[in-house]
Amino acid sequence: MDAYRVKAEINLDALEHNLREIRLTAGSGVRVILVVKADAYGHGAKAIANHALRCGIDALGVGTSAEALELRESGVRVPILVLGTIIDSEAADCLRHSVHIVLHSTDRAAMIQSLARSMGVRAKVHLNVDTGMGRLGVPPARALELLRLVRSSPNLDLAGVMTHVSASDGALSASTREQARLFEGVLREARAEHLLRGWIHMANSASIFTGLKPLYDTVRPGISAYGILPGDLAAAQRLQPILSLRTQIVFLKDVPAGTPIGYSSTWRAPRATRIATLPIGYHDGLPWALGNVGEVLVRGLRAPIVGRVSMDYITVDVGHVPGASVGDCVTVIGEDGAESISVEDLARQAGTIPYEITCSFGRRVQRLYVGGEDLTIPSQRDPRPLERERSPKASFRVPLPPPTS
Ligand SMILES: *Cc1c(COP(=O)(O)O)cnc(C)c1O
Repeated sequence: MDAYRVKAEINLDALEHNLREIRLTAGSGVRVILVVKADAYGHGAKAIANHALRCGIDALGVGTSAEALELRESGVRVPILVLGTIIDSEAADCLRHSVHIVLHSTDRAAMIQSLARSMGVRAKVHLNVDTGMGRLGVPPARALELLRLVRSSPNLDLAGVMTHVSASDGALSASTREQARLFEGVLREARAEHLLRGWIHMANSASIFTGLKPLYDTVRPGISAYGILPGDLAAAQRLQPILSLRTQIVFLKDVPAGTPIGYSSTWRAPRATRIATLPIGYHDGLPWALGNVGEVLVRGLRAPIVGRVSMDYITVDVGHVPGASVGDCVTVIGEDGAESISVEDLARQAGTIPYEITCSFGRRVQRLYVGGEDLTIPSQRDPRPLERERSPKASFRVPLPPPTS
């Protein structure tokens, strides 16, 4: 029996395909900040970043300074942007390792300026304009004031101006057009005062793949690199799923009709059948909501999850699966023969979004990387051998390289 309880197999050739689709759609000359926050949406940030850099992406977006430093430690030298907001105590680490940060207020700008001066560095900052997300960013009416402050701060380098789209269907939504109009207004005023510097970026995956115009000189795709688009967008057909999630049968039991299965006995066998126990539960990222709702693939056949999803195990009815045996590989996400289950299927059944599914894979899930040997995109910048993580515990540290920007 293979030594895995749950394994996520991540196909780097499919990642490369998706990155190529992103480039083709965004247009040549448009810079790509690949978003690898939340451990690359659960796919493993170091390995994903490493391969994406070999495929020629320009920069990385992360959620926290710790994520940025982990990438720096693994040898990443391209610009890394903390997309949201840092908290004050993260600032020094960001400046020390030349991590780009986002400004949302004059107070923060003043704080970063004085910290950067005391450290003898120049901070790379992006201004976030809140055009309708309502979460972070300065209101358009205050953007110019902040840009002037940045220009007059000797230790602040304006590295970009950005906004973030709220609609999950991107350019198809009227709200996105309104956001684009507000953003364009800020850019026009800033240009008139010669305040614009650095990269201009707005588009996430949905906006790129629904034809948002203009895309400016930089885009910030995340989920599409992982083969998924939000909101059932048709362009998803051009992307390839990069992940499959597998477990195996660890126990089989023949039960008579009426046997209760799982916590709170929410399912009783309607007839005599065979129940397989699988070592995957909600800690591994399988939503609790899939109890009595979800399915898995066993020997090429769909088998329903019966009873509740528990922390470490689920139970499935395999009464109709000839020859089901302990040790059989079971597909939770991916293909088995003619059948397949996508991240989107799982999300729909669990009443959530695909992002939450992949981000929820737990620490016990082994991530295995396949493919990626034959790059068809010439590698740029920082070619290095692919780091393979055989288990979530595997990690090594290398000395920090000097950051390049
Ligand atoms: C997460 C994030 C993205 C990427 O969004 P996707 O929908 O995954 O493409 C882009 N920009 C910002 C600011 C983000 O937080």
